[in-house]
Order: sequence, then C-alpha cells, then structure tokens
Amino acid sequence: MEKPRVAFFDFTGCGGCQLQVINLEENLLKLLEVVDVVSFREATKEHSDDYGIAFVEGSITRRSDEARLKGIRTNAKVLVSLGSCATLGGINSLKNSQPEEYVRKFVYGDKASQYETYPARPVKAVVPVDFEIPGCPINRKEFATVVKALLLGKRPEIPNYPVCVECKMAGNICVFEKRMTCMGPVTRAGCGACCVTEGSFCWGCRGFVNNPNVDSQREILAKHGLTVQDVLKKFLLYTGFSEVAK
Ligand code: SF4
Ligand code: SF4
Ligand code: SF4
Repeated sequence: MEKPRVAFFDFTGCGGCQLQVINLEENLLKLLEVVDVVSFREATKEHSDDYGIAFVEGSITRRSDEARLKGIRTNAKVLVSLGSCATLGGINSLKNSQPEEYVRKFVYGDKASQYETYPARPVKAVVPVDFEIPGCPINRKEFATVVKALLLGKRPEIPNYPVCVECKMAGNICVFEKRMTCMGPVTRAGCGACCVTEGSFCWGCRGFVNNPNVDSQREILAKHGLTVQDVLKKFLLYTGFSEVAK
C-alpha cells in the first residue's frame, strides 16, 4: 500500500518547530516507516508538489506569502499549522502594535524600502486550516500523537483546559505566590506547565483556551494588584493577533 505523502513548509519563524520534528529521534524512524516525506527544507533537498498532508510552520508576514500558502492549500488534502507563529501569528505579531514604517526601518535601516512586510497573521487568517499544533516550539510528543491520529483517520485531540491544571498536577507552587505573573489560567495546556516547573512562568505560547475565563484571570490579577491590561501588555509576545488580547 502506498504510504501517505507528507510535506513541511516554513514561512516566517525560527525553524524551531521543524527542528522538534527532526528531534523526534527514534520516533522519527518510526514515522518514516509509515509516511513518505516529500518536502522538508530542514532535512532534505528533495521536493515534490504531490502530497496529501502539509505541515506549515511560521506566520504570514508578506502579501506575497499568500499566493504560496494558497498553492500549498490547493495541493494538500489536510493542512496542519505547526507552532505559535503559524497558529497565532506568534512572536512576529509583536510588530503589529508598532507603526509599520518604524518596524521596517528598525529592522532594515536604510534598505527599508526594498523589503516587503505587512502585519503578521496566523495561517488560518489566509487559508482554511484542518488542525493546529500549538506551542513555541511545538511539543514533539504532541506532534507524534497528532500524526498518529491523522494516519488512523481520527480527529487529533488538543487539550482545551488551562495550563494551571497541569501545573497543579506537577506540584508547582503558583508563581503568583512569589509575586510573579502568569498566563497559565487562560492558556491552553498540553506542555505540562514546563516553564513553571523550570522556574519561570507561563508566557502563553500555546494560545488561549477556547472561551478563556478572563473574569477569573482578572480576579487573580486584581488580588495581586495588577490589571489585565498590565499583564496583556507583557504577554502580547505570542497573542498579538488574537481577538482576546485586543
Ligand atoms: S513557534 Fe516558536 S519555535 Fe516555532 S517557528 Fe515560531 S518562533 Fe520558532
Ligand atoms: S497561574 Fe501559573 S504558576 Fe499559578 S497555577 Fe496557574 S500555571 Fe501554575
Ligand atoms: S508553560 Fe506556557 S509558555 Fe511555557 S510551554 Fe506551556 S504554554 Fe508555553
């Protein structure tokens, strides 16, 4: 039986989500037993436009990106966005809150007029997306689980509860008790609250849960002398394109 043909594509991002796929190690070999990877710039020079599943990393930051993305959408039966840049607009959407000319000059200096740019947006703002794998970078175990589900014809399940649930399960002391702030109460779980476990706090890289309990988050913040605006400014790092953050 012919194996499903899979392709990876990148737009504006750091390549870290694709690297997570390469870092699957022994699971990568298992993956290669069941799919044919026909395009993957970080791993092979091969390229074919004949594929069924397209994984897309990176946000869309130039009008000219749209035609390429639409071509990928036309070729693929299933399109999966990989990581915060592709699912949320991610870190690239930081520029959306700054004047475009300022951003262009800041990055390209006196060559600014030679470079095309527009407000960063997620893949789903340009073409329909079938599934999304959140995170900056993606969690490679979650990637493997999603691929398995797709190959079995099942709908992949991504958690729709907040990071706080996993944080409690990990036995962490809440960082609000240490006078830090955290996006955990409104951020989609699935990472095991790894940033808190490692001594930091949640920056919101997996995006908001569906219907985030903003009132509850507001109450927690108020208890610690902060407003939602205080914290959202800090956390626009990933969610600058999101309606919830506006
Ligand atoms: S989501 Fe993070 S790791 Fe993935 S491409 Fe964007 S910046 Fe890189
Ligand atoms: S607010 Fe942050 S530190 Fe506190 S429980 Fe939730 S995820 Fe953990
Ligand atoms: S704890 Fe928050 S910032 Fe860290 S990986 Fe999880 S969702 Fe992302």
